[in-house]
Amino acid sequence: MRVLLLGGTADARELHTALRAAGIDVVESLAGRTAQARAAEGALVGGFGGAEGLASYLADPANQITAVVDATHPFAARMSQHAAEASAATSTPLLRLARTGWASHQHAADWVWVPDHGAAAETANHLGGRVLLTVGRQPLPAYHLLPDVVARVAEWQGAWTPQGWRIIEARGPFTLDAELDLLRSAQIATLVSKDSGGELTAAKLDAAHQLGVRVVMVARPAAPAGVPAVDTPAAVIAWLTSAPGPRPHR
Ligand code: NAP
Repeated sequence: MRVLLLGGTADARELHTALRAAGIDVVESLAGRTAQARAAEGALVGGFGGAEGLASYLADPANQITAVVDATHPFAARMSQHAAEASAATSTPLLRLARTGWASHQHAADWVWVPDHGAAAETANHLGGRVLLTVGRQPLPAYHLLPDVVARVAEWQGAWTPQGWRIIEARGPFTLDAELDLLRSAQIATLVSKDSGGELTAAKLDAAHQLGVRVVMVARPAAPAGVPAVDTPAAVIAWLTSAPGPRPHR
């Protein structure tokens, strides 16, 4: 068995370690958006060239791939779509690993849920006050009209900084105390987040609740239909080793 792991997340790194510990051969693939990803040893870096490129990779007997696990970020919708198409085209079993979203978070009903970053920017603008953006680096152009912003990103990399914006480079996990400090010291009125889910970056939501900071939450993009999904590395290993549905062995 040889698994292609589509990564770029903490969940994928955890799964990679768990697969190796279980004696399962794995090749991890990264988009290469960050310096950390580009420096990853032994990974495929830089993409496949669309769904067709991925299908060619899966169909190439030299690569010996018997199953694909899509552990990309819940907002990496294009890669997930490509994985679904390539899996269908090559009859390679595909499983989605995605952490549980925040729709069931205890404060979720207090947040303004929006369908995309454009709507989040409009909502934050309407609410007024200083905005903390925790949506990653790539969607930031959608927020360019906001005048008073603190944007927290893992890696900035850019020369583009709108006037009135402050950029903080920091990589989670973040503690509740640190999030309370940031929201207080930066005098944040509105927090904009996307529904990444999981625990690693959830403290900001509790901190916002404690301080009465409004939360605008971008909902997850739709997942490709028909792809089975689990939310833990252990469930991935169980699927790979005993899947009653799509067979991981060819
Ligand atoms: P995306 O829009 O879904 O994908 C764009 C292109 O990037 C894909 O068509 C593919 O290129 C390449 N790509 C993405 N993930 C890849 C992977 N694991 N291995 C090889 N190629 C990959 O992706 P994105 O939102 O830019 O995210 C890029 C990476 O950052 C992903 O690995 C994702 O897990 C990670 N990430 C994303 C977010 C987010 O909010 N989007 C947050 C944290 C981490 P080809 O068509 O050439 O194959």
